[in-house]
Order: sequence, then C-alpha cells, then structure tokens
Amino acid sequence: MKKSVKITAGAAAAAALGATIVRAASLKDDAREVAPLPEEHIVLERYKRNLSDAIKIKTISSRDHSKVDWSQFDAFHAFLEARYPLFHKTLSKEVVSKASLMYFWQGSDPSLDPIAMLAHQDVVPITPGTEQDWSYDPFGGVEAEGYIWGRGALDMKNHLIAVMESIEALLEDGYQPQRSVYVLLGHNEETMEHQESGAAYMCRTLAERGVHLEAVLDEGGANLPVSVPGLIDVDIVGVGIAEKGQVDYEISVRGKGGHSSQPPKHTALGQLANVIRDLENHQYKASITPLFEDLFVRAAKKAKLPVKLLVSNLPVLKPVLARALTTIPPAACMVRTTTAVTMAQGSPAPNVLPQKATVNANFRMMPGESVADVERHIRKVVRNKDIEIKLIKGKEPSKISTTDSKAFKAIEDISAATDKKNVVVPYLVMGGTDSYLYEPICENIYRYSPFKLTPKLLTATHGTNEKIPVDCMADAVIFFKRYIKEMTK
Ligand SMILES: [Zn+2]
Repeated sequence: MKKSVKITAGAAAAAALGATIVRAASLKDDAREVAPLPEEHIVLERYKRNLSDAIKIKTISSRDHSKVDWSQFDAFHAFLEARYPLFHKTLSKEVVSKASLMYFWQGSDPSLDPIAMLAHQDVVPITPGTEQDWSYDPFGGVEAEGYIWGRGALDMKNHLIAVMESIEALLEDGYQPQRSVYVLLGHNEETMEHQESGAAYMCRTLAERGVHLEAVLDEGGANLPVSVPGLIDVDIVGVGIAEKGQVDYEISVRGKGGHSSQPPKHTALGQLANVIRDLENHQYKASITPLFEDLFVRAAKKAKLPVKLLVSNLPVLKPVLARALTTIPPAACMVRTTTAVTMAQGSPAPNVLPQKATVNANFRMMPGESVADVERHIRKVVRNKDIEIKLIKGKEPSKISTTDSKAFKAIEDISAATDKKNVVVPYLVMGGTDSYLYEPICENIYRYSPFKLTPKLLTATHGTNEKIPVDCMADAVIFFKRYIKEMTK
C-alpha cells in the first residue's frame, strides 16, 4: 500500500515534471524571422555636437510660469531651426501654448492616419546645493570620458535631438513618407500640469482639426542589458504600454486645540498616527497582471532552461511570486497600487495643541484603479471614521495599449533585425509622461527611448551627473529612421 502510494506519487510527480518541461519547451524563442535591414546613413558627429549644444540652453520649466526664462525656449527654437535646415524647410511649424512646438510632415497619402513622435524640450532644475557635486558643468554639454554630460542628456534632449537627426537624415536621403508625421515637442512635461500642459493643448488642437493618430512614440522605456550567467543574457527592449496613475489625498483629524500643558490622552496628531498606521498596514493587494505575465513570458523565451521552468509554472506560482515581490520596493510598485505617506503637519507652535492634524498620502495606481477608488480604499482601511479627506491632485492611470498594433510590431521587427539579443517586452511605466494626454486621439501609445543604458545610468535622471554614453547614440538615430520608415512607407 505504502509502496503503491509512493509509486503513484512518483508517477504524478514525473507526469507534472513532464508537463512542466513541455510547457517550458513551448517557451521557445519564436521571434519572427526578420530580414536584415539596409544600413542607414546618419551623421553621428552632428548629433553629438547638437546634443551638446542643446544641453547648454537652459530650458528649465516651472509650475510658476513667472519663474520660467522664456527666452531660453526662444533660443532653443532658433537653435533647432539653425541646426536642422532641411527639416524646417520641409515640415510646417507652429509654436503653441507659449512654447510647445508642433511640426507636421505631409505624407503623400492623406487618407492614412498620421503618426506622432513626441519629446519634451524642458528639463528639471539642478537641486540647489548640489551644483558642486557635478563632475562637469550641468549646462556645459561637455563630452568627456565617453559620455555627454548635463541636464537633459537622458531626460530627454537625447531623444528629442535624435528624432530631429533621424528626420533630417531621412530628408537628406530624399525620403518621402506616405503617411504623415507629427513631431510634437511639449515645453512643460516636468511640471506635471496635465490638462494645462503644452501636450494637452496640442492634443486638443489636433482633435479640433479632426486628426486621429495611428501611433504615438514617446519617452518612458529603454534598452536594458540583463545578464545572469547561465540563466539569461538578453537586451530588454522595454516598451511602456501603460503608465500608473497617481493621486495625493490630504487626510485630517480635528482636535480641540488649547495649551499643551493640559493635553488630552491623544491629540489630533496622536490620532493621526493611527490613521497613518492603518494606511501602511493595509497595503493594496499585489497581483501578477496579464501585462506583467507577458513581460516574464517574453523575456523567458530567450532565457536558459531554469528560467523557462520557473516562468512556465507562473500560473501556479503567481500568488507566491506576487507576495514575494511586495517585499522588494522596486518590484512591489509593478504589482500593486502603492501607498506612501509623505507629509504631516500638526500645530503651528511647540506648545500649542493641534486643532487639526493633516497627512498627505501619495498613491500610485495600477491601470484599472481610479482616483475615486483610492478614496474608498482610505475610508475602508482607516478605522477612525471622523477623518476628513481632501483631494489635492490626481491623475488617472493610462489605458493599456495593445501589443498587436502596427507600431508595436514595427518596434519588435526593427529590434529583432538590429540585434538577436534584443527582446521586446511590454511594461508598466511607473512615472508619468506626456503621452497619455494623447489618448483622446490615439489608441496605440508607446513609451520607448531607443538607448542602451544601464539601470545605474538611469538613476541619474533628474539627479547629479546625468550623462549619456556616446556609444549608444548612433543606434537611437538609426532606430528612429527605421521606425519612421516602417510606419510611413
Ligand atoms: Zn522626461
């Protein structure tokens, strides 16, 4: 009996293992065979020089418009015009919403929906007190040690100038698109003005003119080499197909106030501590979304057997994996709506009891959750039912773009033809970009900057010593040329 149980269990285990191996084997590299693409002419020296000089122009945006030096934006526009003569001779240009740029390249077939290439001209300021930490002048555009250094080198004058370069080069080649192309360069992406931004204005303008876009390509993803000896050695082409929402809620508790010499057992601030504890102890539940699963499955196709085995068991492992990921903050944010208590305030003086204590909680929502859902969540998890909740600022999560569109397939084909190590994976962008503002006129919105970068380099975005490796620059221009051709031929 015992033996037979053993045999049965063993047989079941063998059968399960067999099934797993079959599933793992089904995760074969099924990248479509793509013919090599013809060489592209680009002018790398010009791109390097122009990126360097673009960094020197201090296009710093601010939510307080009176603090913006608009002459820098004028200078940037003149700079683009001077450096890209064919581009400016061929494309029409409108300056809208103060300093945003709308360019239009007329295709030969007006019945086709145009594509849009997005980028923002503005950069964030240097955090006061950190100027001396830079190895080179943050607005010097210095080329040294194999990098071009400065604010905007990664976010995102690198991308903007590469788009300009690619179109200038296409025009030099005598290329005439069938499908029209918009180049839409916002001027205040970094200030998160959302519906009041230049990008939103440009979208409304296009909508009024009856324009519907075939696809939008913006910043938000990169080409990240991932190598773990014996397990995986690929370049992940991360294409953002959605972005998280975010909302700030101010939560308040009222108190009696008075002098601190006669305090109650719990002041308003003391009661608020429980509110904070409830919020932190009742995090959103994590789940492996279809988007996240797709990311794993695609990456596993190019991985070695142990990774394939793991991923082929994903349906069974999902709950365990989701729980495990919540213990790692950079991973947790990909699988759940996050809760971050960020600012708190009590009374205005050390010896005064607070009449009101407030805390700001910042939530980043997964697609599918809404600003209103978060308020319901707060009311549900906070035991104190006398709290007041005020919406400070909210942005709904984006829609999820399909991986079945012409644009996504173009990115896949170009990536596969360029380098066998490339594996295109769709992913969820944690930060925000201008691209979601085009949802009213476009379903296929992708966030991808075609630069091969390490995660370490990416952490310098908005920080000290932002810099781009010179050796990844040519590939970006080539990618944009190929993408535009693929989409417009
Ligand atoms: Zn940016």
